[in-house]
Amino acid sequence: MPCYRCGARQTDPDHGPSPWRRGVRSDRQVLVCPDCQHGRDWTADLDHCTSCGATALVCRLGEVECRTCGRVRATERMAEPPAPSDGSGLSEEVAAALSRVLGGDGLAT
Ligand SMILES: [Zn+2]
Ligand SMILES: [Zn+2]
Repeated sequence: MPCYRCGARQTDPDHGPSPWRRGVRSDRQVLVCPDCQHGRDWTADLDHCTSCGATALVCRLGEVECRTCGRVRATERMAEPPAPSDGSGLSEEVAAALSRVLGGDGLAT
């Protein structure tokens, strides 16, 4: 699963914990690469636990569990079917992130 913000592919470190962070955004599990954790409050874009405010959430089928306090809530929308394997590899979030980076009309070259 690539970084939801920049689309970078996850790479496993030779040793030690991965610097990538998991989170849930709009009821979907996302990963955030180390680069996107710098410079601003990257957790602002993520879903927060309704009980303790943590962003260490795990999204499962139909529910989101907080890994900090253990609260489980149902997701607001039904689980979506798996994305078609058409080879594009770009999720909606990544496409949206790219359009933001490009300033919205950056595609009009
Ligand atoms: Zn990133
Ligand atoms: Zn919590």
